[in-house]
Amino acid sequence: MTKLTKIVATLGPATETAEVMEKLINAGMDVARFNTKHGTPEWHLERIHRVKAVAKKLGKSVAVLLDLQGPEIRINTKDGASFDLKAGDTAKFVSTPAGDREMNIPANVIEALQIGDTVSTDDGACEYKVIEKDETSATVQSVVDITVKHRKTMNTPGIVIDMPSLIENDLIQLDNMTDDDIDFVGLSFVRDTKDIAILRDELKKRNLHTDIVAKIENQSALDNLDEIIEASDAVMVARGDLAVEVPFEGLAHYQKMIIEKCRTAGKPVITATQMLKSMTSDPRPTRAEVSDVANAIYDGTDAVMLSEETTIGKYPVECVETQARIAAYNEPFSASDLWDWADLGDTSAITFAAFSLLDFSKKDIDLVVCFTASGATARQLSRFRPDIKIKALTYNRSAYNKLSLVYGVEPVLVTDETFIYSSELDIVNNLKANKIVEVGQKVLITAGLSEKVAGRKTDSLLLVEIK
Ligand code: PEP
Repeated sequence: MTKLTKIVATLGPATETAEVMEKLINAGMDVARFNTKHGTPEWHLERIHRVKAVAKKLGKSVAVLLDLQGPEIRINTKDGASFDLKAGDTAKFVSTPAGDREMNIPANVIEALQIGDTVSTDDGACEYKVIEKDETSATVQSVVDITVKHRKTMNTPGIVIDMPSLIENDLIQLDNMTDDDIDFVGLSFVRDTKDIAILRDELKKRNLHTDIVAKIENQSALDNLDEIIEASDAVMVARGDLAVEVPFEGLAHYQKMIIEKCRTAGKPVITATQMLKSMTSDPRPTRAEVSDVANAIYDGTDAVMLSEETTIGKYPVECVETQARIAAYNEPFSASDLWDWADLGDTSAITFAAFSLLDFSKKDIDLVVCFTASGATARQLSRFRPDIKIKALTYNRSAYNKLSLVYGVEPVLVTDETFIYSSELDIVNNLKANKIVEVGQKVLITAGLSEKVAGRKTDSLLLVEIK
């Protein structure tokens, strides 16, 4: 069963052994995500090395996404104890140590709260209205019956709080990483392009060439979406926080909008959170979950993600198999379409021509081979979502890893000699010798012919029947 959609699986205690990692890769995991909200830098680094070693052994490209925690607010209760509130009961957010029925939070958050604001904790499960405020506390009324739990995150929809975009833990997590370890870094709670520039700067200071995944999870990110997509390398529809930070009824609309904008811009996009949540404890998905994964594919996502399903779940490998099954079944029905492209630069024009050929050939073409030094040509072609695999040949290990996230692309690492040729026949013979194509296949090749370096300045299409 082959699939074109990419699967991002978050690794955790349930998936930390080499044996399970191998099963995940064989089941269809393309990107291993590490969530730095949990675990020490040493814990992550050890498992990053492990998953890279397993991928290398299997001869598969698996990218690593290090997801930074970002400026989230966590509540601290007295002695870490939970407490119950009935609807209408009052409690206090305080900047001083928490007493009974109190939750300690940073002073600048108290400062930003206003009487009448609605805030929540525990992924929106606990909702409160602010009814009184002084310098060090905000008295709130619970909206429904709840249990307040220690260390849960707090969301403050629509309230502007002056917070740094990266916290100390984020910088520590980056400190020991190298380009060989991480391919993508996730920027949580991005608000505007300034946040992306700050992270780029921190990466540069550490000599890291890691791509940035902007996690869209609040109103500010939606307000600045076009600029954020342009400034980042990839995007995540981070539905967990997004559905708390904006009214949840808008979620499907925002998901479709973000995915479409990313496809148009040629930036890989991940649809994340609760895709198969019930499989954390049950062996089979709910109907709604099966539909959710399929619908993200119909929306045009590059990748679907797993979080607690694979970090602490009972059926991590089955979750990847389930997403792979749903993807493989639905992809042939998620028709590619031709649109008006606003920015038909050289690469766009040639990849548009390639897609048109594929579309009009009515499945007569078996394979696309795309020579790409940076990965750009493969990304540009992928955004049209052709319904067959694009074998992206590159000698650049970083591009090889990063293409793991791109829909329909199978990265193939080759030597740089593969890119040099003196005739078109050389290209074909090379592909045959390296077993990238087989006799009898009809293959569409994108290459740079004018400079006789196949993966540079892509300007040509070759349609070849392999003999
Ligand atoms: C999300 O909010 O959907 C998300 C993926 O972010 P995190 O898991 O880091 O909270």
